[in-house]
Amino acid sequence: MPYQAEYIWIDGTKPSPLIRSKTKIIENGKEPGIWGFDGSSTNQAVGSDSDCVLRPVFTCPDPLRRPGDKLVMCEVLLTDFTPHETNTRAACAAVAEKYASAEPWFGIEQEYTFMKDGRPLGWPENGYPAPQGPYYCGVGGDKMPGREIVERHTAACIDAGLAIEGTNAEVMMGQWEFQIGILPPPLIGDQLWVARWLLFRIAEDFGVYATLEPKPILGDWNGAGAHTNFSTKAMREDGGWDAIIAGCEAIGQKVGEHVSNYGVGIESRLTGAHETAHYSKFSYGTSDRGASVRIPWGVARDKKGWLEDRRPNANMDPYVVSRLLTETVCSAAS
Ligand code: ADP
Ligand code: MN
Ligand code: MN
Ligand code: MN
Repeated sequence: MPYQAEYIWIDGTKPSPLIRSKTKIIENGKEPGIWGFDGSSTNQAVGSDSDCVLRPVFTCPDPLRRPGDKLVMCEVLLTDFTPHETNTRAACAAVAEKYASAEPWFGIEQEYTFMKDGRPLGWPENGYPAPQGPYYCGVGGDKMPGREIVERHTAACIDAGLAIEGTNAEVMMGQWEFQIGILPPPLIGDQLWVARWLLFRIAEDFGVYATLEPKPILGDWNGAGAHTNFSTKAMREDGGWDAIIAGCEAIGQKVGEHVSNYGVGIESRLTGAHETAHYSKFSYGTSDRGASVRIPWGVARDKKGWLEDRRPNANMDPYVVSRLLTETVCSAAS
C-alpha cells in the first residue's frame, strides 16, 4: 500500500518566514525523493520563473497519520540544485562540517504562546488575567490553558522519534516551552523545525494557533525566547571551564552580528527586564538569568559542561543561530 509523505519547508515570507507543507503519496518501499513547488506563492520566486526544488534532509515517522506515513523536512534549492537564498541550512551544514572535529552540540528551549480570537489562550476578552506569578510550571483550574495541546504535541514528538527532552508552562498565561536536544548542527535545526510544524498542526485541531512572536503582549508580561544551550567537546571534557569562558569571550566580541540574527523584533524582548539582558549590552555569569549568556550552576560546580545563550528569540531560525555560535566559538578556539 502507498504511504503519505508530508514535505515540510521554510518559505520566503518577510520579516519572519512561515512553515509550508504538502502531501505526496509514495509507493510502498520507495524513499521520499526530490520534489518541487510553486515559489511564486511562497515569496520564493516570481511567477514567470516559479519552480523551486525540495530536497529531503530529515525524515521521521508521521505520528498524526497512519503507520508508515512520514514527515519529510526539506531544504529549498533552485532548479540548478544550488541553495535558494532562503535556504539557511546549507550554510549551517557547511560550518558544521568545517568544525566537525570540535563536536558542537545544541539544546534549544523553544518558548511559544497559544493564541485564540486575537489574544493569548485563556485571557479574558477585556482586560488582563491575574498578574504573572502562578503560571510558570503551574498547575490547576483555569490557570493553565493549553495543556491538552501540549500533551498531544509532546506525545507526537516522542512518536516521531524527535529528541524532545521536556516541557513546562511559562511565566505568562498561555505561554509554554519544550526543549529539543542534545544534537549537532544542522540536525538540531531539522528537528526543531519539525517539532514546530507538529505544534502548529496539532493546535489547528483545537482552533488555536501557536505563535513564536517574541513579545506577544507589550507591557509587564514576559516575552518568548529560545535559549540556546551550546557546548563543544573541549567544554564537556574535564577542565572544560577554560573553553567555556573562552567561548563566552568570543561570543562577546560579536554582539551585533549575533543579536541581529537572533530573530525579528529582538529589541522588543531584550529590554533588560523580564529575565533578559539589554540587547546592546553583553554579559555572562553563573546562574545569572539577567545575563546575556548564563553558565548553569551545575556547570560551574563541575567546571565543565555548556553555556546558555539566553538572547535568541522564540522566532529565531535554529539553522542561523547554531551556525553563528559554532562559527564564532570554534573559529576563536582554532
Ligand atoms: P533552564 O530552563 O533551566 O534553562 P532547561 O531544562 O529548559 O533549563 O534546558 C536545558 C537545556 O540544556 C536542554 O535543552 C539541554 O539539551 C541543554 N544541554 C544540556 N547539556 C548540554 C550540553 N552538554 N551541550 C549543549 N546543551 C546542553
Ligand atoms: Mn527552560
Ligand atoms: Mn523558559
Ligand atoms: Mn533556559
